[in-house]
Amino acid sequence: TKVIIVGASHGGHQSILELLSRYGDNVEITLFEAGDFISFMSCGMELYLENEVTDVQDVRNFRPENFPQENVSILNNHEVKAINTTTKKVTVFNSVSNETKEYDYDKLILSSGVKPNALPVPGNELENVYLMRGYDWATKIKAKLEDPTVKHVTVVGAGYIGIEAAEASRKAGKEVTILDVIDRPLGTYLDPELTDILEKHLKEKGIDVITSAKIQAFEGKEKVVAVKTSKETIETDLVIQAAGVKPNTEWLKGTIDLDDRGWINTNEYLQTNVEDVYAVGDATLVYSIPARKKVPIALATIARRQARYVVKHLFEKVPAQPFGGLVGSSALNVFDYHFATSGLNSFTADKASVEVHSSYYEDTLRPKYVPNEHGNHSVSVQLFFDPYTHQILGGAVLSTYDITAQANVLALAIQQKLSLEDLAEADFFFQPGFDRQWSLLNLAAQQALGEEP
Ligand code: FAD
Repeated sequence: TKVIIVGASHGGHQSILELLSRYGDNVEITLFEAGDFISFMSCGMELYLENEVTDVQDVRNFRPENFPQENVSILNNHEVKAINTTTKKVTVFNSVSNETKEYDYDKLILSSGVKPNALPVPGNELENVYLMRGYDWATKIKAKLEDPTVKHVTVVGAGYIGIEAAEASRKAGKEVTILDVIDRPLGTYLDPELTDILEKHLKEKGIDVITSAKIQAFEGKEKVVAVKTSKETIETDLVIQAAGVKPNTEWLKGTIDLDDRGWINTNEYLQTNVEDVYAVGDATLVYSIPARKKVPIALATIARRQARYVVKHLFEKVPAQPFGGLVGSSALNVFDYHFATSGLNSFTADKASVEVHSSYYEDTLRPKYVPNEHGNHSVSVQLFFDPYTHQILGGAVLSTYDITAQANVLALAIQQKLSLEDLAEADFFFQPGFDRQWSLLNLAAQQALGEEP
């Protein structure tokens, strides 16, 4: 059986691993990657920019030589241009030899991902207006962070990718401004109770945070020298744009069912409208359990879970089990703070037209008598729940102590459709070296239920 995979990122990597572990050498696997570098891991970009990983060659999910098996071919500089659904062939352009060839498939797995948005404003083609994704941009940004003539960096977009860019730039000794069109940083990830803490912290660390600012133009002749916004003009030496993504699916138009913004529509088995063609990863709409609908969620975790499901059921025409959907969880360090979030928040709930109530709980991690200097950190938990059934639909945790694993407990609660009552009573451990007589999430749920924890 010939299996072709498009894209050598998380979805493509997980597909190879699953194919080999489930079907061994009974499948012939060919992976096409348009880029030169195989499997750059953008999730590791900040580590590279901050010199925690020094060799860019290591910032990847896999190297082609990790798959020496005879039935695996991994071809870089090979862009898949079209799918012929009747002859079951893909047309592939080799950008090194300039040749175009056709390859047969029995099964085709698409994981072509997304590309970062360049803002549609004047000056977006200027030198020094960069994007934050992939190998090429990573190495370019790194060079600028090491260039002493670059004094000031402006980051456009204060989502988690923008925050990573801003923090890495600040740690490289640059003056940094971060801009967002909405009214607070990380506003699509966290509610104001938590973003207030982080915004203050970003400012303490010397980052200029400008919100509710619409970018009007990047100014300069060849190089950018200023960013003009609806609020003010910021002089700068480098712009890093981290303002959303769009799917790499133009080449699928007319063949594969896409939504009006280009995201790939699949059925509950992650099959596209074309037989034997499956899609996973950032380019797809994924069923969100808490949103109760299909939405785009750009996370490596999602691509990997989808790929695992697709390969597991690859040879079942109608799989016995539909793909169960996902929750969407992510974590981030913001200088001295660590946060993690799972499922919905007020912003994403509103976007998905899901009614949620929220509750905010703040306390000390350990019993009150443990002094702060002995690690009794302040901790914050936010819960989002259905006001009628109390089903937990989202949550976030934040502290200067690393409590991010608690968000995985929330993820499980959301995925299993547990209620506040379940979480309030869940039998979690207590040991004063770690937590209070009741665990943090018990207390947060009890408070959400109107009890005095
Ligand atoms: P992508 O990573 O988008 O890759 C698609 C690949 O397909 C690309 O290599 C592209 O060149 C190739 N391609 C596209 N079209 C074609 C074609 N026609 N022919 C051949 N090849 C093609 N997620 C997390 O879960 N945790 C994190 O901490 C995290 N941090 C991140 C930090 C940054 C800075 C960024 C940018 C992203 C981060 N993500 C994180 C998101 C994560 O990187 C993505 O969710 C994940 O990479 C998606 O994988 P994918 O397989 O869908 O495709």
